[in-house]
Amino acid sequence: MNLMNEISISDPKVADAINREIKRQEEGIELIPSENYTSRAVLQAVGSVFTNKYSEGYPAKRYYGGNEIVDEIESLAIERAKELFGCEHVNVQPYSGSPANQAVYFALLNLKDKFLGFNLTSGGHLTHGSHVNFSGKNYTCVSYDVDPKTEMLDMDAVRKLAIKEQPKMILSGLTAYPRKIDFKAFQEIAEEVNAYHMSDIAHIAGLVAGGVHQSPIPYADVVTTTTHKSLRGPRGAMIMCKTEDRLHDLYHSNSKKNLAQLIDSAVFPGLQGGPHDHVNAAKAVCFGEALKPDFKVYAQQIVNNAKALAEELMALGIKLVSNGTDNHLILIDMRPEGLTGEGKLIQNALDHAGLTVNKNTVPYEPSTPFNPSGIRLGTPAITSRGMKESEMKVIASGLARVIKSKGDLTVSAKVKEEILELTKEFPVYPGLAIFK
Ligand SMILES: *Cc1c(COP(=O)(O)O)cnc(C)c1O
Repeated sequence: MNLMNEISISDPKVADAINREIKRQEEGIELIPSENYTSRAVLQAVGSVFTNKYSEGYPAKRYYGGNEIVDEIESLAIERAKELFGCEHVNVQPYSGSPANQAVYFALLNLKDKFLGFNLTSGGHLTHGSHVNFSGKNYTCVSYDVDPKTEMLDMDAVRKLAIKEQPKMILSGLTAYPRKIDFKAFQEIAEEVNAYHMSDIAHIAGLVAGGVHQSPIPYADVVTTTTHKSLRGPRGAMIMCKTEDRLHDLYHSNSKKNLAQLIDSAVFPGLQGGPHDHVNAAKAVCFGEALKPDFKVYAQQIVNNAKALAEELMALGIKLVSNGTDNHLILIDMRPEGLTGEGKLIQNALDHAGLTVNKNTVPYEPSTPFNPSGIRLGTPAITSRGMKESEMKVIASGLARVIKSKGDLTVSAKVKEEILELTKEFPVYPGLAIFK
């Protein structure tokens, strides 16, 4: 990577930070389920000269000159996304997951309109109607929740709530829910109450693309996703949708726009300016990688690893929310360890052990989001570096010892030695941190 050598001469401070971050990413076990390691090809596209270009508008409909190559690359990203997910229409311009969701709300709802979202504490995302977020402030959100006993979604309860509340939109999707989501059931409910169905697959896009999770594409009106989580692409997002607005006569009878046009004009000029063409080039690379047969093997291994890690943790006496996982993520409930509200303490102790996780609320959290009682884990990143079931045993053992020690840093230091040994066997970017 020659560009890296340039920066080491022109700006040693930033170069040094990049170098140390490479080392941190190599030497730690990355268990944050929303993170991943992209390919070098994705890194190169993000670091390319497409960052210099302005291209407001859409392919063949731009406001600036010199966009013939940008048009090619954006169209390529769109075509590959369509092939990968089997969707009718794609907008690859959203800067990230939150703006993508904002664009959908902007396209389909008026201020104060009511929608149903998954409670943040039990597994939803901030942008699914949290009161501190635009989605909860600008619109009226009613949350559905998991069943307190099974800690899983109960579709009968979602249906009852939808019938009672008559929302204009129903959101399906997760950020911290370790189970599969039945998108077909969500769609049936949405149709029954004349609501749009928006599905946000930011976390599980890689699993959907790899065929190990039901896809919402044949059902939902609109599907948003980030590209940087299990899909393993650059930091960004996209919106997929059907072309026709099934609820046009009910909600948009004054507009001539179909659903795809509503979404496109909400992204630009509604919400964003120029697209990030360097990131869109990297999205094209990422979709190309996900179309290869290898990606199916990767997606299956993510799920196999999560299952193995979950089983090993439970065998070591650790309580998991819903007692297991169907997807790429695991939520540890630390209340039985006497660690209610101690997520921050344990996250910190795990950091000292080279195990990078994030603290998280558990369903019906008795403490606060800043001092929650759970720890969220995920396997996309460690699977990208080639780890399999036998490595999950080593990781589970480290996690369990740190948790059972209640944050004793001498235990963390011991675990860290083992983790360092393990990560050395699975280099991520060999030879990348060579610039001086
Ligand atoms: C991560 C995530 C987002 C937001 O993505 P950002 O790129 O962080 O803005 C939106 N929805 C869900 C379900 C997510 O998991």
